[in-house]
Amino acid sequence: MLVVKIGGSDAIDYKAFLEDLSSHEDWILLHGGSHELDRISEELGHPPRFVESVSGYTSRYTDEETVELINMVYPGKMNKFIVEELQKLGVNAFGFSGMDGRVLECKRKSSLKIRKNGKKLVLRGEHSGIIKKVNTEPVELLLGAGYCPVLTIPAVTFNGTAVNVDGDRAAAEIASAFSAMRLLLLSDVPGLLKDVDSEESLIEEIDRGDIESYTDEYAEGRMKKKLMGAGEAIDAGVSSVILGDGSQEKPVSRALSGGGTLIS
Ligand code: ADP
Repeated sequence: MLVVKIGGSDAIDYKAFLEDLSSHEDWILLHGGSHELDRISEELGHPPRFVESVSGYTSRYTDEETVELINMVYPGKMNKFIVEELQKLGVNAFGFSGMDGRVLECKRKSSLKIRKNGKKLVLRGEHSGIIKKVNTEPVELLLGAGYCPVLTIPAVTFNGTAVNVDGDRAAAEIASAFSAMRLLLLSDVPGLLKDVDSEESLIEEIDRGDIESYTDEYAEGRMKKKLMGAGEAIDAGVSSVILGDGSQEKPVSRALSGGGTLIS
């Protein structure tokens, strides 16, 4: 089993990615939609807001309106676009969110401890969650019946409320729940770079034990969560995680044949 997560950057050529993915078998796809969410949120007069946690991670502040926007963009526009493209390619894709069938069950974080202008603050009204349980059954039913699962956010709390979750960590949870051999995290960069502005500075291999030190030394912003997700997946038994470039040609085949950062 291969678990692939494709990010939501506007640099990604989804059609090229999906064409490449369709030549592979036995996969579960998770997708993002951050660029589209930002764009539509701006257009609808509710601009995105990003915060930095006290532990240094960047995340989207998800208020109630943002959950509605997530529902429009991720399982709506993005998911149906991806399912349609796969159907055109002859792949019988079945799209759903982590809320459907309670595939991704979470404990809600209703407040965030953030750092703003050097001060620590508590931000309330947050609708995000930490995944506590993956219910594999609905996905197994789909796989068993020959469908190709295309999963996205939101996830759901134990009480049944929709919540935002980090896509890379969700992919890590899915990969471990399905005992995947490999997890591909495709975004708009070639992998972990020593210098974000230089593709030549790609780090080709990282041992699990070194993730934290590489994170401290090189990762900024969202890359920190990607590395955290990678570490969680390896700890849960996934053999290798590959950070690859979703904006290049044949991104899946390229990542599987040694392109990107291999973490094992
Ligand atoms: P996606 O949502 O598409 O999966 P993210 O935005 O979460 O991707 O993560 C990729 C981003 O991480 C890159 O666009 C880059 O700006 C940022 N980044 C921060 N530090 C690094 C680094 N050391 N190497 C590569 N990318 C980095």
